[in-house]
Amino acid sequence: MKINGKEKNFATIVEQKYHKSIAMCSTEELYVTLLETVKELAKEKESNEGKKKLYYISAEFLIGKLLSNNLINLGIYDEVKKTLENNGRKLAELEEFEVEPSLGNGGLGRLAACFIDSIATLGLNGDGVGLNYHFGLFKQVFDKNLQKEVPNPWITEESWLNKTEKEYEVNFGGFKVKSKMYDIDVVGYNNRTTKLHLFDIASVDESIVGETIDFNKEEIEKNLTLFLYPDDSDDKGRLLRVYQQYFMVSNAAYLIIEEALEKGSNLHDLADYATVQINDTHPSMVIPELIRQLQEHGILINEAIEIVTKMCAYTNHTILAEALEKWPIAFLDKVVPQLMPIIRELDNRIKGKVKDESTYIIKDGLVHMAHMDIHYGYSVNGVAYLHTEILKNTELNNFYKLYPEKFNNKTNGITFRRWLMECNPELSKFVTDLIGDGWKKDANELEKLGNYINDDKVLDNLLAIKQDKKRELKEYLKETQGLEFDDNSIYDIQVKRLHEYKRQQMNALYVIHKYFEIKEGKLPKRPITVFFGAKAAPAYIIAKDIIHLILCLQQIIDNDPVVSKYLKVVMVENYNVTLAEKMIPACDVSEQISLASKEASGTGNMKFMLNGAITLGTMDGANVEIAELVGEDNIYTFGESSETVIERYEDASYVSRDYYEENESLQKAVDFIVSDEVLKAGKKENLERLYNELLNKDWFMTFPDFDDYVETRDKVYDDYEDRKSWAKKMLVNISKAGFFSSDRTIAQYNEEIWKLK
Ligand SMILES: *Cc1c(COP(=O)(O)O)cnc(C)c1O
Repeated sequence: MKINGKEKNFATIVEQKYHKSIAMCSTEELYVTLLETVKELAKEKESNEGKKKLYYISAEFLIGKLLSNNLINLGIYDEVKKTLENNGRKLAELEEFEVEPSLGNGGLGRLAACFIDSIATLGLNGDGVGLNYHFGLFKQVFDKNLQKEVPNPWITEESWLNKTEKEYEVNFGGFKVKSKMYDIDVVGYNNRTTKLHLFDIASVDESIVGETIDFNKEEIEKNLTLFLYPDDSDDKGRLLRVYQQYFMVSNAAYLIIEEALEKGSNLHDLADYATVQINDTHPSMVIPELIRQLQEHGILINEAIEIVTKMCAYTNHTILAEALEKWPIAFLDKVVPQLMPIIRELDNRIKGKVKDESTYIIKDGLVHMAHMDIHYGYSVNGVAYLHTEILKNTELNNFYKLYPEKFNNKTNGITFRRWLMECNPELSKFVTDLIGDGWKKDANELEKLGNYINDDKVLDNLLAIKQDKKRELKEYLKETQGLEFDDNSIYDIQVKRLHEYKRQQMNALYVIHKYFEIKEGKLPKRPITVFFGAKAAPAYIIAKDIIHLILCLQQIIDNDPVVSKYLKVVMVENYNVTLAEKMIPACDVSEQISLASKEASGTGNMKFMLNGAITLGTMDGANVEIAELVGEDNIYTFGESSETVIERYEDASYVSRDYYEENESLQKAVDFIVSDEVLKAGKKENLERLYNELLNKDWFMTFPDFDDYVETRDKVYDDYEDRKSWAKKMLVNISKAGFFSSDRTIAQYNEEIWKLK
């Protein structure tokens, strides 16, 4: 590697720093040295200094560990790995040493992380802006078959954070705080770098947090940046969220204006210097805040509104009504009194010219954040074809009628650097050996793999790589979590946040159904391992009950000498990016079974496809586009269509008990939840609550899809036995995954929304 124009070797760098060889160093010494080296190399890379800059503002950036990713993107991964191995050490040892920052919940935060990787890789002038949560989300531990939450600190003495000079003052009702900006360099693949700016409060106090994630939610000057999305089940938690959101966007607005002024903007032309992507509604207050700050710079309100409306673009991530944020006026009056007059003015202007009351910003004492984004932004995008169509035709139809030109689709994507090159070097090399490495920059070149569809040797190699990854996962989970299972079994995996709409409960009902079949002597041809990984929001009771059920099932089956030969449940603890990178390459069957219309896109589905897993899914989110690309022989779809589901909600015609009463095997599976056997393994209160929820509500309609799900899943397992035809399906899936590169997504954002040079 070249540092400061001089050729250097990692071994000499270590030698100079510690006066000893790599072999003699502790893991920490090696990690710290490599971290510093990578940071230095990242600093040397140029960044795009074009006139217009994108600010991607997001409450979450689920970046994952950065060491290996940065080594790959700097092009020194193989070199460093070899140097370490020559000295009897392993890169994996350093990878394990690194702690993963949990600055996100799931898909939305991971998307933001993939996007900044692609922005850097495409060499665009764009930075991420977010918050520096000291304890991230939370670390999940299982205790008596229940989820417990503990703090997840990640900021160590030597970390990826770089301190900067930037400091601002952020005003809240009645007090103000000083902010500090930290940067993480985002290294593009063989290209420029960009930055992730994470804002913190100067007066943050980690000591108010003990063993649990409980803390005094009212000490804003100490707690503002301690946790991501603190428990919002009470008003204090919800208020803290508003404080966090305003802190984030106020800092962002100061930064945007300062950087534009430095480049010569007179602020009347601010929209030529900056564009803002609002990732979901968490950063929506950036609109009134930018207007407010422009007014402080002497720009009159009419013009300020006009400027900001040309600058801000909004990404919608969900049609779940409860997720579209609405803040009580009283909250905003308390936290940001300086913004309320502006928000009222924005609302009055709409009320003065638009008849449709459903689009108003302030209604019944609530401020509708998404409504503000749509009226006062220049672009509204959904995140997959189906999702955007549903926004246009149903959820946001009233807005679509007002502003058809603002609506557009940007189907999500993932970075192939992390989700293939880093997590599956074996498959990555296999692909490169066949078609060259052009796919690393142009993912569509993966289509060339289609030429090998009848090449038995290629198909055999593909299966062999999958088997290797399955063995690796088995060893890893044995060592790190004490989990045991058979690597000759089919790996069936559902990993994602726990939410009723994602329907982990339907997967659990299938497990119960299989359990009964095996007890009755109907044995699967090959053992099946059903993996789950999911965190539930701390206040989401039913989600935690579903985790409880899954853990009880795991225990019951583990203790059953007959059933456990054919079926295992493996619930991994603390599912995160690190675990995703181990599990996805090892997967045979990818469970993407959300209720049609409810999953905006999904990105897990794309990661699995890229790694040669076959999707078992509903026609929802980006599954629709996967199905279109791979063709019906290479995906298994089931369940009711989004149209049927939407109609069912509209006419409120769904009665879960009707299905339960008419379907014997479903009834048996549901009843098992409160059987003596499960009650012995778990807690009556939790299990009964879940049972009643399903029987009396089943809001996400698992019962109507149950039979089709069971039948389709059984067919998947049957088809798995024809190994050659399965390998062909794998190859087709990998070859068609190019569309889901986040480089494609970001190129589209830029061409159609941001228009950066
Ligand atoms: C990709 C990813 C997700 C998103 O998964 P979905 O199946 O799309 O919901 C969530 N968590 C982690 C750790 C991920 O890597």
